[in-house]
Amino acid sequence: MDEQDDENSPPEKNCERDKTFDAKGLSEKEEGQASNVNLLEKLREQFTGLFFGGLASPEFFAMDQGTRPLCDEKTDHARTEGHSSESKAKKASALAGISKFSMRPQDIRDYLQRFVIRQDEAKKVLAVTICDHYNHVRRCLANPEELSQDYGKPNVLLLGPTGVGKTYLIRNLAKLLGVPFVKADATKFTETGYVGNDVEDMVRDLVRAANGDAELAQYGIIFVDEIDKIASNEAMGRDVSGRGVQVNLLKLMEDAEVNCVAPNDITAQMSAMVTFGGRRHRRESISTRHILFIVSGAFDRLNELVRRRSSDGAIGFGRKSFAEDEENYLRLATTADFVQFGLEPEFIGRLPVRVACEHLRKKDLAQILISSEGSILRQYEKDFEGYGIELTLTEGAIYAIAALAEEEKTGARGLMTVLERLFRDFKFHLPSTAIRQLNVNEATVRDPAAALQKLLADSST
Ligand code: ADP
Repeated sequence: MDEQDDENSPPEKNCERDKTFDAKGLSEKEEGQASNVNLLEKLREQFTGLFFGGLASPEFFAMDQGTRPLCDEKTDHARTEGHSSESKAKKASALAGISKFSMRPQDIRDYLQRFVIRQDEAKKVLAVTICDHYNHVRRCLANPEELSQDYGKPNVLLLGPTGVGKTYLIRNLAKLLGVPFVKADATKFTETGYVGNDVEDMVRDLVRAANGDAELAQYGIIFVDEIDKIASNEAMGRDVSGRGVQVNLLKLMEDAEVNCVAPNDITAQMSAMVTFGGRRHRRESISTRHILFIVSGAFDRLNELVRRRSSDGAIGFGRKSFAEDEENYLRLATTADFVQFGLEPEFIGRLPVRVACEHLRKKDLAQILISSEGSILRQYEKDFEGYGIELTLTEGAIYAIAALAEEEKTGARGLMTVLERLFRDFKFHLPSTAIRQLNVNEATVRDPAAALQKLLADSST
């Protein structure tokens, strides 16, 4: 807790905004200062757009909001300016939620089950990790003496092919927990941060995702995708820089103090100076001690590496275990394999929880369409509903779509590709006709153009 933080004062970023907003009621001197802040804020927004653009997508979810994000960044800015009391209440409820954390691993697994098909091991491991971590955070919030106890943070490494639900798992977790969440792409980082992004920017993004509330951000989740791309592998041309990024990242993953103002964010620096000159103090840094890091990657080359090692007979498992899932050797990867792959021992050492996600087969893809609450099919149903058209699919159609999607070899992302191809012309033609029902069967999936022609011909007779 920052001692300078008055419990009743709005989050730091909002302080500046509140000043600007209330400028009419201020003295001349204060008014000048307020318009300075206003100007600086505008500049800052432009600059941060440049510096942060494309790095991370800050999100913030609240438990009581079901599946709706509480503050996507833009709408939240607008809301904050008008309703700082709302944002204070939000902060209080998010922190209160964390300090009363009482979920059980099976509650979390059951929630994930509603959205994510397969990946049972990942769901179980994540559920246990989340409970352990937030139970620890709850104890620290209740009793600051706990902070002096040793704590090995259970940062997570999620492995597995593209499109199998790695990101989807974490997004749904963050939504359930109601903690600030950012997703970043490891390929955007450079060692120095001069050319690309600095890893510390993720922490500042987490503060933005928490609506400027640095205290709340300290209990958030940072998800870094494509972590395999920073392996220090000469063939990938990232030998030096990849190692440097790993070193920077491992410091963050453990326990680091990160400046709230980026060294290269000139407008934010100036804005901070104005704030210091004003009446309120701002928090200067935030600790990453309780930020949970979850990193993920496809690790294709590692899969091959472990496969080769296993066929040499140098692995401590019998061949039988591979026969069960020929393609998924990632779950057998050892620390030595990760080091050989190009991750620094200290880096992989900060990721004690490792779990591999499975490939999705045709029946899994069909199951996603049928039963996942976030199924892309719901979106298509709604799209047609928008024109008063009811969309129905036979089981045969579902399996035919799943079979085509499997051929794409991009996991569940293949479903989007196939559905887009399938429905493209129906979406264009049907809204201008009197047709109010679209029944899709296997033949429609095989030959959508012929099915559309027949439907249009039948309706015009
Ligand atoms: P990645 O494993 O590459 O991170 P994502 O989690 O981003 O893949 O998956 C892309 C989309 O595909 C998700 O937003 C979700 O709609 C769908 N999806 C992927 N895997 C699953 C799954 N196991 N169950 C349900 N939907 C899934």
